Amino acid sequence: MKGKLLVVGFGPGSFEHITKRAEDAIKESDCIIGYKTYVDLIRGLLTHQEVISTGMSEEVSRAQAAVRLAEEGKVVAVISSGDAGVYGMAGLIYEVLIEKGWTEEKGVEVEVIPGISAINSCASLLGAPVMHDACTISLSDHLTPWKIIEKRIDAAGQADFVIALYNPKSGKRTRQITEAQRILLQYRSPNTPVGLVKSAYRDSQHVVITTLEKMLDHDIGMLTTVVIGNSSTFLYDNKLITPRGYQRKYTLDTAEQRLKPHERLRRENEPWALHEGKEEQTVEKAINVDSPLDLAMEALIKLDGPNKSTDDQPMNPMHEKVESIFELAVSPGVANKRITPKQMLAIAEVVGERGTMEYTPHHQIILRIPTEDPSDITSKLQETGLLLSPTGDVFQLKACDFCDGEKSDPIPYAEEIQQKLGGLELPKELRLGFNGCGMACYGAVNEDIGVVYRKGKFDLFLGGKVVGRTAHPAQAVAEGIPPEEIVGVIDTIIQEYKEKGHPNERFFKYFKRVREVQGYQHRDIAPVIELEPAPCGD
Ligand code: SAH
Repeated sequence: MKGKLLVVGFGPGSFEHITKRAEDAIKESDCIIGYKTYVDLIRGLLTHQEVISTGMSEEVSRAQAAVRLAEEGKVVAVISSGDAGVYGMAGLIYEVLIEKGWTEEKGVEVEVIPGISAINSCASLLGAPVMHDACTISLSDHLTPWKIIEKRIDAAGQADFVIALYNPKSGKRTRQITEAQRILLQYRSPNTPVGLVKSAYRDSQHVVITTLEKMLDHDIGMLTTVVIGNSSTFLYDNKLITPRGYQRKYTLDTAEQRLKPHERLRRENEPWALHEGKEEQTVEKAINVDSPLDLAMEALIKLDGPNKSTDDQPMNPMHEKVESIFELAVSPGVANKRITPKQMLAIAEVVGERGTMEYTPHHQIILRIPTEDPSDITSKLQETGLLLSPTGDVFQLKACDFCDGEKSDPIPYAEEIQQKLGGLELPKELRLGFNGCGMACYGAVNEDIGVVYRKGKFDLFLGGKVVGRTAHPAQAVAEGIPPEEIVGVIDTIIQEYKEKGHPNERFFKYFKRVREVQGYQHRDIAPVIELEPAPCGD
């Protein structure tokens, strides 16, 4: 008689959530091997089986015993909660077999039977948090170095994954979850919805909805899975919802969809997808791309949620109805600082009674206009020769007026940089100061990046910290860059920062972290006195 190893994931814990195959496998086995708590959970299914239950940390001896019994000819069920292939026994069983030179052809038969893993069972109790790209991370550093776990949390935070944290905390391991929270707060809002599910589908099931900021105020233990939303996850009626996709592809308030099935995959209906060839980037297009938050808001408004704000639902700003506000920056031109009456009138007309215009320190007026038709606004403004740019975390060029156009030699280079990089989305807003002579009276050297034209060539300054009590100018990194090289130099620096900067990492921080950008070295400048950090509002 040939033995068999059945590696069974029996789901979260209740009989309703065991698959038919898992139940049959348990019934057809001669013996059951598993952690005592798990054996107790499925005890009601047992008839004649011999039970070998062991303590938690004896996983290796459990796997060895299972293999030995199967080799003796027994049908052995090795049980794991959830899925046996997710931090369960499946891997260990194969490792023990491999050690013995097992092959599928010659060795005992192995069947791995899938089960509902905690990420799925817990998600179902929270609403629909795992609707988009998600990952699981186990915070247990018994078998994995913390350095690696830390790196994975950081990467998942950066990549905006929905995250399910397994093994978040135990009697001795209490710091890991605090560290995980600290890392994720670098990338996500403190208000990010979080679900804590303890013992899903077991008698002691307990569900808490909280936020990334407040999650540690609640009980988290060995039987808890912590589900952390991505940047568009929102709360509705105490449920975590992560929108599935782009609102332009589906409407929620009508039975009939705006796009017919055959139209949905057309290129113009998926402007966010990776297409063959190069994407044209018009100002209008760049401004119109919806952020995940906007999409979540839109979806929620369609659901028409009640405007509740209780302690249980602390941070749901999306329950408030918001109008779609179109935001853009206007200026008369790269070097030109004079606005004509016609341009003023055009701005006043598009802003109307309900819009606002805000003058910034950066040679721009920010317009915020409630509208359903941004293209009408952009075309009216462009007709008068105004330069339009998107706002937010984008590349901005802040040039001087080149002595009212008198010193015009470097202007074409400024214009080329604007054309190439203006409005480019970056990890954080970035201003490039571009001044036309060594006086640099428009303060190029005090911006994230400074370019100063002098004696027919360019000087380059990198990494200014533009605000705060620890503000400092950018560091002089090169003198006398030939004009034909300057656009390329700036372009490669910006492309590197776009690709490698962390979300929200300002250029000076990036420069300090990587120490060298395109061959330009960072130098540490010792502060005169140590200053206490003072975040916004302090
Ligand atoms: N193989 C299991 C995971 C084992 S690791 C699976 O696929 O689900 C143990 C961790 O899983 C626990 O610390 C907890 O984070 C999670 N977990 C397992 N069952 C759970 C349940 N019923 N409710 C909540 N979390 C659970």
